[in-house]
Parts: sequence; C-alpha cells; structure tokens
Amino acid sequence: MAYDDNNVFAKILRGDIPCRKVYEDDHVLAFEDIEPKRPVHVLVIPKGKYEDATDFGENASDAEIAALHRAVARIARDSNIDGTGYRLIANTGANGGQEVPHLHFHMLGGAPAGPMIKNQ
Ligand code: 5GP
Repeated sequence: MAYDDNNVFAKILRGDIPCRKVYEDDHVLAFEDIEPKRPVHVLVIPKGKYEDATDFGENASDAEIAALHRAVARIARDSNIDGTGYRLIANTGANGGQEVPHLHFHMLGGAPAGPMIKNQ
C-alpha cells in the first residue's frame, strides 16, 4: 500500500495542522497526543514517509532507526518518566489497531499503564 500523504501526522509534519512539540531533530518529531491516555502521552514519529513498523524496519536508514530510538530515551529522561517507567507502543496495521498510517511510538507514563492486552 502506498503511503497516504493526507494522513494526520503527514499534515503535522508539513505544518498544516499544529501540534504541541516535545522534541525534534533531523529525523524525528515528537508531540503530545491530542487525547492523552496517561499524564504523559507523547507520540514519536520519523520525519520520513513510513507507514508502519514493518515499512520502517525494512526501508529506513540506520541513521533514521537509531534517531527514533535515541529520541525515545531522551524524551523519557526529559519528561521524568525514565525512573517510574512507561509503556512504548507501536500499533501496527489492522490487527494492531493502528489508526494513523504513519509509524508512531506512543510513550505512556506518569501513571501505571495497566496489564498487557487481554487474552482472547
Ligand atoms: P494509533 O491508534 O494509530 O496507534 O494512534 C493514533 C493516535 O493519534 C491516537 O492516540 C490519537 O489520539 C492521536 N491523534 C489523532 N489525531 C491527532 C492530532 O491531530 N494531533 C495529535 N497530537 N494527536 C492525534
């Protein structure tokens, strides 16, 4: 499937719609989720056009992959959730429950994330 240039995170990257920026570098943008599920709920995205974790893992450069993970660590420290912990989620595709087709990591902290997903 081709990358959808009209997805909401593509619009945020273009500056067509605003976001509350938390972190930015050459490869990464991070911003607050519009409907936070925990006191800290940051979305960390690559600036490149990658639909999901599979696309990113197959096609992103080593520099892009490293930058995304380095950004997660830095945001955890800067948001003071490194010590108490956080949940890092990358919903992927239909069964993963991914709504926005641009790879994003959710960082959820500031309160317990709760149990892992339920058994079926
Ligand atoms: P997904 O279900 O794809 O893993 O997560 C998409 C996330 O994007 C949701 O948590 C949702 O609240 C967030 N979101 C959707 N639209 C916007 C928006 O316009 N701005 C921001 N900051 N977050 C958004």
